[in-house]
Amino acid sequence: LSEKLQGVFANLKKKGKLSEKDVKEAMREVRVALLEADVNFQVVKKFIKTVREKSTGQEILNSLTPGQQVIKIVRDELQELMGGQNEGLNLNTHPAPIMLVGLQGAGKTTMSVKLAKKLSQDNKKVLLVAADIYRPAAIKQLESMAEQQEIDLFQLGTNNSPVDICKAAMEHAKKYGHDILIFDTAGRLHVDDKLMDELDDIQQATSPCETLLVVDAMTGQDAVNVAQNFNDKLGISGVVLTKLDGDTRGGAAISIKAVTGAPIKYIGTGEKVENLEVFHPDRMASRILGMGDVLSLIEKAEQSIDADKAKELQEKMKNQQFTFDDFIEQLQQIKKMGSLDQILGMIPGLPSKKLKGLSADEGDLVKIEAIIKSMTKEERVNPSIINGSRRKRIALGSGTKVQDVNRLLKQFEQMKKMMKQFGSMEKNLSNKKGGF
Ligand code: GDP
Ligand code: MG
Repeated sequence: LSEKLQGVFANLKKKGKLSEKDVKEAMREVRVALLEADVNFQVVKKFIKTVREKSTGQEILNSLTPGQQVIKIVRDELQELMGGQNEGLNLNTHPAPIMLVGLQGAGKTTMSVKLAKKLSQDNKKVLLVAADIYRPAAIKQLESMAEQQEIDLFQLGTNNSPVDICKAAMEHAKKYGHDILIFDTAGRLHVDDKLMDELDDIQQATSPCETLLVVDAMTGQDAVNVAQNFNDKLGISGVVLTKLDGDTRGGAAISIKAVTGAPIKYIGTGEKVENLEVFHPDRMASRILGMGDVLSLIEKAEQSIDADKAKELQEKMKNQQFTFDDFIEQLQQIKKMGSLDQILGMIPGLPSKKLKGLSADEGDLVKIEAIIKSMTKEERVNPSIINGSRRKRIALGSGTKVQDVNRLLKQFEQMKKMMKQFGSMEKNLSNKKGGF
């Protein structure tokens, strides 16, 4: 078999260029990964098109297999789409006002303290400004967090307008030598004109170096719409993506940059003040693609099993829906390629030495195929109904002995049992894996 595989590889190498088929197969997986990660459908479509054009006809690098190479192009392109490199904060005035805007609950207050803490660790003197006057609790929240982190806070209670508070804060900062101000503004549940007017007033009055939109990554596509709205009405200089902890894959990151043109500068990965990270487009690209999964599928495709079929098979195994129909489909592949245990050995996590009983030579395969073909549709899907008289009928129809039918049924049961173990093993693993 390995000789045959080497032949396949050699063929791909000989071609020297990525074929449309290589690219197409890889792109199918990438497309699913992107959509699952909440990337905007239109963005995915356009993206896939770009990558397809870029990939097809490219020279194959010696160090990479064609599948890996397509993935590399995808990854690079995703990275580019998200801004390429991290863009730091633009703090070119003194004092430098940073304005945080966004919907209620997006994480502005938390982020303002996180940023303040980080910047003060860089030896900047930071002033937090409580500009959310609509909920007295909001000021309390900022006050207690600022106190805990030993950051200066400026507040005038709830009787002054947000714009007056921010203007007064600017004077205060100049007087007391603060380098940076962070305005924690109010949010609403939805974008509305009153909110936008208020934010616009603050912007006009204080000319912030940065107007950072804070968006909740867990809201997926909504985050993208919100970003578009804020950018249209206010103009934003950057985005902070919060709640990227846990399983959130963060596809919003791609769409947001594509839609607003504003780079993502930071991400929030938890409720604690230290859960702040500089945004790295390359890491996010890997995260969105779920590198591991995609790469292993691609590798399987190279081993001349159709990538789609392999994935489908894996899913079926996990869900224990594997039937004799799937089995026979695999047999067709096997006849082309080699032995059953080697095919199953390619499925990650299936220990191949447990499959010895299933290995079969050319003659056995023909027999097995004949037996399965003699089964009714119902029997293939639900082999447990194959009783004694059905076994006799199948043996007769396939020109085999009842013992042969028995053996196949037994092997199939064993295989299913093993898949079940494998399925729950994998489930346990993925439960423990947690986030990124
Ligand atoms: P604001 O209304 O925009 O000021 O949002 P808050 O800063 O008050 O945050 C709303 C909720 O989200 C709070 O319960 C925060 O603890 C939580 N939160 C903020 N950032 C993150 C984050 O990065 N991860 C998680 N898991 N929760 C966050
Ligand atoms: Mg708040």
